[in-house]
Amino acid sequence: MSDSTASSHETEAGETTAGNYFVSNYPPFHFWDKGSARYLGELLAKPHAPGTPLGVYFHIPFCRKRCHFCYFRVYTDRGAKEIQRYLDAGMAELARYAASPFVAGRLPKFVYFGGGTPSYLSVAQLRSLTDRMKELLPWNEVEEVTFEAEPGTLNEAKLHAIRELGVTRLSLGVENFDSHILEINGRAHRADEIQRAYAAARAAGFPQLNVDLISGMVEETEENWRENVRKLIELEPDCVTIYQMEVPYNTGIFKQMKAEGKLVAPVANWATKRAWTGYAFAELEKAGYTVTSGYTAVRNPERTRFVYRDSLWKGADLIGAGVSAFSHLGGVHFQNITEIEQYIDTVESGELPVLRAMATTPEERMIRELILQLKLGRVGAPYFREKFQVEVGQKFQAQWLGLAEAGLGEWNGEVFELTREALLKVDSLLHDFFLPQHQNSRYV
Ligand code: SF4
Repeated sequence: MSDSTASSHETEAGETTAGNYFVSNYPPFHFWDKGSARYLGELLAKPHAPGTPLGVYFHIPFCRKRCHFCYFRVYTDRGAKEIQRYLDAGMAELARYAASPFVAGRLPKFVYFGGGTPSYLSVAQLRSLTDRMKELLPWNEVEEVTFEAEPGTLNEAKLHAIRELGVTRLSLGVENFDSHILEINGRAHRADEIQRAYAAARAAGFPQLNVDLISGMVEETEENWRENVRKLIELEPDCVTIYQMEVPYNTGIFKQMKAEGKLVAPVANWATKRAWTGYAFAELEKAGYTVTSGYTAVRNPERTRFVYRDSLWKGADLIGAGVSAFSHLGGVHFQNITEIEQYIDTVESGELPVLRAMATTPEERMIRELILQLKLGRVGAPYFREKFQVEVGQKFQAQWLGLAEAGLGEWNGEVFELTREALLKVDSLLHDFFLPQHQNSRYV
């Protein structure tokens, strides 16, 4: 696919078109180099930089059903034997890391099970998976274990088992509380399953329960969104994450738009999605929550941390195991092969399953951390001075000035703080901080 502008997700009138809005990494993915497994081999043979925290991500690519807005490659038809073969491959991959000079002797600080749907696995599969992971990279110093779950895959016994395995942060993919909206968007679960799963998760005693919502799903209305927010607050989760609906290429919604010759997606426009997220944040604040990023609000900011996010956004090393998983090690980005059979075959043949990689420069790493931390609503100059010996106030003076002139934020001494309006559209503001050669990219 050819490049297009950074605003490929939006028409001039603010309608939602196909394209990526969410900025999850830097430099953008399409600058990563295919056929670059050798980078990883070279890197793993070296010792790591002392003091860099280590995390482990394990990717479970299985789901009960494919959501219409999903752009991940997920598998909805795999049986126990195929799943086992996949988990074995993931373990073999992780074992390669654990035995390397770069990782040997290090203990992870955080672990994340993402997908896909990690809760699609049975208790026996999860038990065996986590036992083997702990053997390879013990969890003695782990501060947080996050686990993504789809409400319809959970029951009391499974939730108690997940808690017993050491999961501290359960993230429930609720997305919407209305069964019709869930159905029309292709979600597998329904409203009654949310209530059941939430109550059972609370009873299982997870230190942190997060609920995910999406503003602007197909057929979402103002009235329904308000009802969503009311139900959300009634549940009193420790943490709330709200994404604004984007319609990337390869989603079911995009395919339908293409078949019907439509350019505008059948979801709310960006101003509406931002207003709905802003409404949710305001209601959460009235209920005592604190907004901690462009997507999250937490009930108790003193106690509720998100170690995975905060570590990654400060340049931690991350081993990403599994099909299409992303790693960031020693300043090098990697993504694994994105097709499951090819991934398994590659690992089984003794090769590293890397699809593409990029060795970043210190300047790119500094920009990466700056834009990711901007999603928190504020960045402080001292952090960048100490870590990168860069004065971000001066280096990005034009960008700060532009934001301030647009009423989107201001410098408070050594800190740049975004306004709420800016925070609600923070991903659309980040491309201005990219190096010129990376500015025209939709793959971020
Ligand atoms: S549950 Fe998540 S990963 Fe699975 S199909 Fe839906 S959006 Fe995609």
